[in-house]
Amino acid sequence: MAWLDTRQKLEILADAAKYDASCASSGTAKRQSTRGAKGGIGSTEGMGICHAYAPDGRCISLLKILLTNSCVFDCHYCINRKSSNVRRARFSVEEVVDLTLAFCRRNYIEGLFLSSGIIRSPDYTMERLVAVARSLREDHGFRGYIHLKTIPDADPDLIREAGLHADRISINVELPTQAGLTRLAPEKSSARIEGAMGRMQAEMIDSADARKRYRKAPRFAPGGQSTQMIVGADAANDRTIIDRASSLYGRFGLRRVYYSAFSPIPAASAVLPLSRPPLIREHRLYQSDWLMRFYGFSAQDVGNATDADTGNLPLDIDPKLAWALKHRDSFPVDVNRAPRTMLLRVPGLGVKAVNAILHSRRWRSLRLEDVGRLTTSVAKVRPFLIAADWRPVALADRADLRPRVTPPPRQLDLFGA
Ligand code: SF4
Repeated sequence: MAWLDTRQKLEILADAAKYDASCASSGTAKRQSTRGAKGGIGSTEGMGICHAYAPDGRCISLLKILLTNSCVFDCHYCINRKSSNVRRARFSVEEVVDLTLAFCRRNYIEGLFLSSGIIRSPDYTMERLVAVARSLREDHGFRGYIHLKTIPDADPDLIREAGLHADRISINVELPTQAGLTRLAPEKSSARIEGAMGRMQAEMIDSADARKRYRKAPRFAPGGQSTQMIVGADAANDRTIIDRASSLYGRFGLRRVYYSAFSPIPAASAVLPLSRPPLIREHRLYQSDWLMRFYGFSAQDVGNATDADTGNLPLDIDPKLAWALKHRDSFPVDVNRAPRTMLLRVPGLGVKAVNAILHSRRWRSLRLEDVGRLTTSVAKVRPFLIAADWRPVALADRADLRPRVTPPPRQLDLFGA
């Protein structure tokens, strides 16, 4: 490995970390202070600062980097795999600690997202990740947010220590099926990944129990655990992905499942698709995830919204509307009488709107105009609702209902970012 200074390592290792979606970055315009005659201060480009949401809902800036982009594994979809011809770099534990503290003192970041390729062995790599977190917490009194990516095959004691220092820990399941893993990441196994998730969940439960009895008992990953699935690298359809996500939420109490549309990498392996799936597919999966977590939909409900032949969610309409169009017999729903669970199924009504309806209808009968104020598209909710002054006459049964409620296609901007 050629000698690189910290800035060069940061360039390589922050860029390599961008493929991990499990701390979601927010989009913004590109601005660079080193360009232009007047210069400036600050930059939205390059070098590993991303945004994530803390458990209490605050948006925080994180330094998002890998400890190293060298790896002894050869996962086909990964740019850092052993056979990939990329520039390699590796931070020492002290370099990551110093960078985190320096960025924090300058107010660039409020936390660290640290992942790594596997060097030498899972234990050796995990020891280094833990050493960063331990040093930050114990040697430097770092109070910021730490998200550590853990390695399923590492010693459970190391993973346990990771959870004692980190706010959130995660293990990527990467692909929804074992068949996909066998084909694209042969060194990984669903059973080992799930074993590690189960142990982390048990630690969290033990820690919560202990804290009920002893207020000062140590916390274990108070922000919970999360994972990421790559979408479109293998043949798994949306129904399979949704089932897998639901099973992970149910069995391991995951805080979040992130979906990352596969993006073709330079010099990609021949077993990978040549093109990326449409980004809107990733968006539809996030919407279906939302339906399961906040709208009372089961995986089977969301699965019913998928296309019977392909098992994929429609791309032109959202999954809730797709479900409603397939279950027209459940509508229209009376906005002044229906229970919360049914109001949450009405396309166009979000959780806030439903809460507002439940609150307002205690005092007066709601009209369509009142509901219209709570939604962005009254045209979308109208066929599915009964209000004091509105009753759709067989609207939910119309053959042309789908085009009536489908948003009109939008011309894409050829020159947009
Ligand atoms: S183990 Fe992780 S870093 Fe290594 S090749 Fe697989 S996905 Fe990439």
